[in-house]
Amino acid sequence: MHQIRLRRGRASSLMRRHPWIFSGAVQRVESEPPSGATVRVIDADGRALGHAAYSPSSQIRARMWTFDPAETVDAALLQRRIAAAGQRRSALLASGQTTACRLIASEADGIPGLVVDRYDRVLVCQFLSAGAEYWRETLLDILRDAFPGTVLFERSDSDARVKEGLPSRTGPLHAVEPPDSVTFLEHGLHFRADIRSGHKTGFYLDQRENRLLLGQHAEGAEVLNCFSYTGGFAVHALAGGAAHVTDVDVSADALRLAGEHVRENGFDSGRYEQQESDVFHFLRSCRDARREFDVIVLDPPKFAASSSQVRRASRGYKDINLLAMKLLRPGGLLFTFSCSAHMTEPLFRKIVADAAVDAGREAQVLSQLSQSVDHPVVLHIPESWYLKGYLCRIG
Ligand code: SAH
Repeated sequence: MHQIRLRRGRASSLMRRHPWIFSGAVQRVESEPPSGATVRVIDADGRALGHAAYSPSSQIRARMWTFDPAETVDAALLQRRIAAAGQRRSALLASGQTTACRLIASEADGIPGLVVDRYDRVLVCQFLSAGAEYWRETLLDILRDAFPGTVLFERSDSDARVKEGLPSRTGPLHAVEPPDSVTFLEHGLHFRADIRSGHKTGFYLDQRENRLLLGQHAEGAEVLNCFSYTGGFAVHALAGGAAHVTDVDVSADALRLAGEHVRENGFDSGRYEQQESDVFHFLRSCRDARREFDVIVLDPPKFAASSSQVRRASRGYKDINLLAMKLLRPGGLLFTFSCSAHMTEPLFRKIVADAAVDAGREAQVLSQLSQSVDHPVVLHIPESWYLKGYLCRIG
């Protein structure tokens, strides 16, 4: 059996059931496990800590499958984990709120590196770690069995694959080809996920509840939706009775689909406008033109992709929050988010607070926001809580 031995004093995160073993914690890799193979993990004294998937190219050298040394890592274990993950989403899908959800959320569902998003009858799969790649065929068989009547499509083209030394791969996983974009319902509104070339698997499912919340605060409002992507927040704002909504994004493809979402949901295009622009630039031009809004959404991409980028990212978050606060009418609402796992909640809160001080405005938190329930937060895996946000009233 392949085995890795940890350095003395480097087992504490595993004792707290955090599943990552960084390369610096590894004393010795015994035998030569192939990429993704299962290795037994032992501490410096030879005590067994469980089993992990070996990632020879990644800084995260191994990801724990189980902390029980007696548990076998096999198809049955994967099948149990997938069944449990599906079970945890069944209430959400049965509720009629949506026909799309994240079915498998990697470490947060006990399957490091596997992400599966369901859009109606299509399952979009991402194999993002050496371990998930190693078990690919088994995982696909289990998914086909567990979710009969669905069509599988692969979008293993994330940056995470590069770190794992894996080539990017996309395409159908079934004889039946799914359509280019898959229609689904979210809180009564129609959306399309561009599963072939959209971001992630095609849509940002993690903002579902926050989009609904925006709709509930949009009546009569002039709304600015920054980093709009395909207009999810905009469509909910229009449904909530917004007087006018502006989507801003640098991606022409995303905006094209955003426009179609507005039309397909039957909203009057007179209430809707798009700006293909850099948000930093657009916010400054609004400031210079003294344009004002009642509600602003800031949902930027991950500004910090690693801990070394947190300082620079902090400046970016502060800039946009400061500018947005200045554009809000007194009593206006700011929906502000960070989706960087490296940006902790206390740090993000401080950045938004600093922005308010510099803007000379008071920010009152009406709601603390997080990711949708199908993107579980596991307390002993802090990185699983990646999306943080606030709904603030700006006085
Ligand atoms: N709020 C969206 C998801 C946003 S994803 C939703 O609910 O679906 C982040 C978006 O920011 C992407 O569409 C990306 O194209 C866009 N983006 C990234 N950097 C940008 C910039 N500097 N200015 C404008 N848009 C940007």
